[in-house]
Amino acid sequence: MKNDQKIYIIGAGISGLIAAYELERAGFSPIILEASDRVGGRVRTDEFKGFLLDRGFQVLLTAYPEAQRYLDFQALNLKYFDPGAIILQPGNSFIIDDPLRHPSKLINMAFSPVGTLMDKIKIYQLTQMLKQKTEEEIFSEPSTTTLQFLKDFGFSEKIINNFFLPFFKGIFLENELSTSSRMFKFVFKMFSLGHAAVPENGMQAIPDELKSKLTKSQFRFNAPVKKVEGRKIHLVTGEDLEADAIIIATRPDKILTQLQGQFKPSRKVVNLYFSLSHSFIAQPKIALVTDDQFLTNNLVFMTDVSKAYSKNNKALLSVSITKPVEVDDKLAKLIAIELSALTKIKAEYFEHLQTYEIEEALPQVEDMGYSLPSGNTKIQDGVFLAGDYLLNGSINAAMTAGRKAAEAVILSLQPTY
Ligand SMILES: Cc1cc2nc3c(=O)[nH]c(=O)nc-3n(C[C@H](O)[C@H](O)[C@H](O)COP(=O)(O)OP(=O)(O)OC[C@H]3O[C@@H](n4cnc5c(N)ncnc54)[C@H](O)[C@@H]3O)c2cc1C
Repeated sequence: MKNDQKIYIIGAGISGLIAAYELERAGFSPIILEASDRVGGRVRTDEFKGFLLDRGFQVLLTAYPEAQRYLDFQALNLKYFDPGAIILQPGNSFIIDDPLRHPSKLINMAFSPVGTLMDKIKIYQLTQMLKQKTEEEIFSEPSTTTLQFLKDFGFSEKIINNFFLPFFKGIFLENELSTSSRMFKFVFKMFSLGHAAVPENGMQAIPDELKSKLTKSQFRFNAPVKKVEGRKIHLVTGEDLEADAIIIATRPDKILTQLQGQFKPSRKVVNLYFSLSHSFIAQPKIALVTDDQFLTNNLVFMTDVSKAYSKNNKALLSVSITKPVEVDDKLAKLIAIELSALTKIKAEYFEHLQTYEIEEALPQVEDMGYSLPSGNTKIQDGVFLAGDYLLNGSINAAMTAGRKAAEAVILSLQPTY
């Protein structure tokens, strides 16, 4: 009976893959319609000239409850970032030791250029406060901007400008820390409980692992959906499909006419890759550029985190820009000059590999949440929504939303006696 039900999932990103997994567990065999040629959506890694290039710098936080539920960390062979960061300034770079995970390590913070002794105490207090709260509690608290929250909590301008601002710009992909304080608290808690990591062979290993667990789902790649009307799916090719249930596991505003114009534009990021003979950081740490005159916000040598990112013994450098910037032929040169100013390494030694301009990197969610009742994923009869945009821009949220949509479909298809 269950195999006769035609359930279509639109989108093979993390959310769509989790929805498929949950549907399979309940005995269904969904069909996944994916516009591109592979699974993963925004979690994607390209192979290029012997390097692994993640499309946009991103990490898995091992404390994500949903990642723990669905991923086999051992099979992914996770490679961990060292906590803390390097503050990169021309002629004056220094390391911040783990301010989020082990505030007690900051013995010298009183004399550090990063913050004050009071900041150290505040970090400790915030860590303890958040550890006592569940994720649901964190997301049900009143929301203000992250910047306002940091000020209200009593952090000094020094630590805000030298650490929080550049660090969280790179996570929220916006420059004012206008992102909800709920998201800040959640991410802060995740960093303090676990590690930032990438799979040994690139972020794509995450969706690939999820796909490998699907045994009954059918994939149709290069199958972009044009529109959903009632329970009918119109593909761009002109083909029409009739469904018993549909999960739209991507932003639905282009597919459902009634939702057009209802979403804020997504946050963007520009990510450039360079290769060098060796890493000038030489440790698996994120480096932050705090001086506003530079375009670069943060950089990391992926090969310091996982050697498998390079097959040719060269170092792979990932640079992220969160400021609005024109992506043209000159950008890579400009960034190489910046990097040279920051490191004193000649600009010509930075060999440009690739530039990714990621227009729809993170959704701007008005009322950020951690979870939602499965019934709330229903948008119309037989049509359900999934995707990170329902909750917050993270792998964790994409997984939750996928599961919730699947639960709603399963419930809707249960026979009524
Ligand atoms: C640069 C960058 C950095 C990030 N950093 C982090 C991080 O460090 N940690 C973290 O947790 N999260 C991070 N994220 C966010 C995280 O990647 C996303 O929250 C998550 O991948 C969203 O998954 P999704 O399934 O909801 O959506 P998507 O990944 O967008 O999946 C949607 C899928 O639907 C397909 N699709 C779209 N339209 C159609 C159509 N009409 N027909 C058929 N298929 C269609 C798309 O091709 C895609 O495969 C980052 C994202 C980016 C881009």
